[in-house]
Amino acid sequence: MTVLPLRPDLQGCEPYGAPELDVPVRLNVNENPYPPSPAVAADIAAAVGRAAAGLNRYPDRDFPALRSALADYLDAEAGVRLDWRQIWAANGSNEVMLQVLQAFGGPGRSCLSFTPTYSMYPEYARDTFTRYVTVARREDFTLDTDAVAAAIERERPAVVILASPNNPTGTALPLDDVAAILEAARGHGPDDAAAGPDPADCVVVVDEAYGEFRRPGVPSALELLARTDAAGAHRYPHLAVTRTMSKAFGMAGLRLGYLAGSRELVDMLRIVRLPYHLSAVSQAAALAALAHREELMSQVASLREERDALVTWLRAQGWTAYESDANFVLFGPFADREAVWQGLLDRGVLIRVVGPDGYLRVCVGTPQEMERFRDALVHVTTGAD
Ligand code: PMP
Repeated sequence: MTVLPLRPDLQGCEPYGAPELDVPVRLNVNENPYPPSPAVAADIAAAVGRAAAGLNRYPDRDFPALRSALADYLDAEAGVRLDWRQIWAANGSNEVMLQVLQAFGGPGRSCLSFTPTYSMYPEYARDTFTRYVTVARREDFTLDTDAVAAAIERERPAVVILASPNNPTGTALPLDDVAAILEAARGHGPDDAAAGPDPADCVVVVDEAYGEFRRPGVPSALELLARTDAAGAHRYPHLAVTRTMSKAFGMAGLRLGYLAGSRELVDMLRIVRLPYHLSAVSQAAALAALAHREELMSQVASLREERDALVTWLRAQGWTAYESDANFVLFGPFADREAVWQGLLDRGVLIRVVGPDGYLRVCVGTPQEMERFRDALVHVTTGAD
């Protein structure tokens, strides 16, 4: 028998991922339910075809054209103008955040986050030998910034990850809270880092994978990146905001996530990226998709409305449903959430068992999909048809 030397800390671990089941209504991984139109798909295919003619060559390693197009997109979406050198991208925001941990985490260092939150964060930490430390959110899933500041002071983490809107709760962070955490992070990074007289800051990542679904009036942390001090220098060079084309943009299959931060921080990520990590096919497809941003994002407003209607409906049924700034809703509690999940699946509706005990998360689909979900939930929980 072969014995392979899997790292001791990985023994017994399962690969991360939700069940991939072929059912009619898939509401389990927070995708956009609307595929690109045939015209947009054809345009992306044509761009990929042009890239195919040059596939004997490695792709553009620093991909300025795509970074500029992403900067233009952020300007249009959040009203924040950034230089292309402040943008970085990789195969999904998962890879971007892993790169952040590769650059700033490591043995003897820690990463701080706030539970319940996205379950990949501990995996980035594990994979980079970074200690993962958590602090609980308040009962309503908001953050107590004094408790966050105290944890930063105590732990001196290299990286703090704040998901906003948070997965699986849908909670967005007020800008003042993010600014307060950025202030607390100043000079409170790992104390092994002293390269000069000043103590290190800790890097604060605001994961805005669901940012485009935020309600009107809820600002993006990108606005903090635009703030400068009296001398014109970045006020928060230790801030990184991650985004993705997987959710509102409707391009989960493309695997394109990105980050906005100071040029200094982005240049540090370039040290750990693998050479040519973003394929010519990905770059071409992403550029073509970005050129159609208005069409690809055209359903975001209706998805938001569908989400708010879902919260209202769930509450009317007597469940607790949390306000959400994302494209999913956390609801419950159920005495046996696994049984409810299975009952829905038996009726062709796949959702996710995640979050606090007794709760389930459902992603917002098309009106027809939501009708099937509502009918199935009524049936499963009351036995009525
Ligand atoms: N952050 C959060 C909070 C997420 O929920 C997800 C995907 N489920 C990601 C990041 C990663 O998305 P991607 O790698 O597709 O960009």
